Amino acid sequence: MLDKFPQGMAIIGHNWEIQYANKKMEEITGYTFDRNKARKLWDLYSIEEHYHFFQHYLRAMEKQEEVEFEGHLYNRGITVHVTVHPTDAGLSIFLQDITHYKQQLQALKESEERFAILANNMKDVFWISNDSFTQIHYLSPSFQSVFGMSRREALSKPENVLNVVHPDDLNRVKSGLALMRSKKHQVEYRLVGPNGEEKCMMTKGFPVQNNGTVYVIGIHEDVTEKNEMLKLKEKSQQLSTITQMSAGIAHEIKNPLTAIKGFLQIGAANPDLRDHYQNIILDEVNRIEAIVQDFMMLSKPKSSLQKEEVEPGSVVTYVTRLLEPEADEKNVQLIYNPKSLNDTISTEPKRLNQILINLVKNAIDAVDHGGIVSIVAELSSNDLTLSVSDNGPGLSAQELAKIGEPFFTTKEKGTGLGVMVTKKIVGDLNGTISYKSKKGEGTKVTVRLPRY
Ligand code: ADP
Ligand code: MG
Repeated sequence: MLDKFPQGMAIIGHNWEIQYANKKMEEITGYTFDRNKARKLWDLYSIEEHYHFFQHYLRAMEKQEEVEFEGHLYNRGITVHVTVHPTDAGLSIFLQDITHYKQQLQALKESEERFAILANNMKDVFWISNDSFTQIHYLSPSFQSVFGMSRREALSKPENVLNVVHPDDLNRVKSGLALMRSKKHQVEYRLVGPNGEEKCMMTKGFPVQNNGTVYVIGIHEDVTEKNEMLKLKEKSQQLSTITQMSAGIAHEIKNPLTAIKGFLQIGAANPDLRDHYQNIILDEVNRIEAIVQDFMMLSKPKSSLQKEEVEPGSVVTYVTRLLEPEADEKNVQLIYNPKSLNDTISTEPKRLNQILINLVKNAIDAVDHGGIVSIVAELSSNDLTLSVSDNGPGLSAQELAKIGEPFFTTKEKGTGLGVMVTKKIVGDLNGTISYKSKKGEGTKVTVRLPRY
């Protein structure tokens, strides 16, 4: 029966002679019992090399107490856990091979050490919390430098961490964290330091289950520098568009300037012709002004957006009033059809105006005398839809493809920048713009802008 026993077992007599060893003991020690029966234990294991073992055996024998320890069998390369029971006859020794377990423990320790190296040196803060965020289980060391608060302060009272979140971002952070209980989520917010300096933070987290308990684990990342780089990138992209466009602009302005110069020279030499050229010069100056205005609109960065609550109805009314004289002059009918506009939209009024002005101007330009331009504005729960339709000549497929390219114009006094500017502003406001047109029937431009 003892042969089936999963631990090695041996009985040693009072005089250290080996009285019994089971199969498992033979397996662990590599000695067969039959051959070593009645030999002294130190004949098999020298006391010098196995002093650690003998020490414990002696204690068990002399003090008649149970002893437990771990030792290594060098000749076998095996680590064992040893339990020694004193008996009337001597000692019962139980051996358990724990080499594998030891190796795993070592591997675990190494992986823990690697994790510690990672956590200790990571600039990002690694965190583990319970799913109601009332208890933080772990915060990596960089927490202190990123949040300007000791880890102890945060661990003892997790709500302390929320105190350094910018008050305007607090609700967003709370609802963001709440979402992390059920799925991967991230939230960006500002931290306010002790001297009022602000940092941009990104917190990412997701739930994990361990033995039926849900934890949320994640990372706090300082994205201040990253955001600044992004802004810089936006700016440099803008600059390169501007560089590309400058060449075009210079070219476009050079033509009217040459004309102005020429007429001024003629006027200087022939005073009686001066009045005659006055209007031409004024026209050319207006053209330059229009180009410069469009160009300035293009160079406005998206980050300069100043949103406010705007009633879309008032914007449309303003623009129709502004362009009424131009329409009247051409005998064009401007029809405005407001639809369920009983709420506001959060946007920049200047840019919204500019979109509508550009579209309505193009429509007025497109139609003949007596044409019709109609504007429809409609609010839904998520966005504002503006559409401008005309019964002008419409656009061919080729023209539709070209529309919005810089300096594409079919007008004698056009700048070819209007649609491009409009598209850019719609993009600034995170909206979309689409052209629908049929040659000979007219054009409908639809702009959709998010309300928030
Ligand atoms: P511009 O008005 O100075 O010509 P835009 O960029 O505003 O420059 O428009 C570019 C071109 O697109 C116009 O010259 C015109 O050919 C075409 N276009 C724009 N809107 C319409 C429209 N509603 N109907 C027909 N053509 C249009
Ligand atoms: Mg235009």
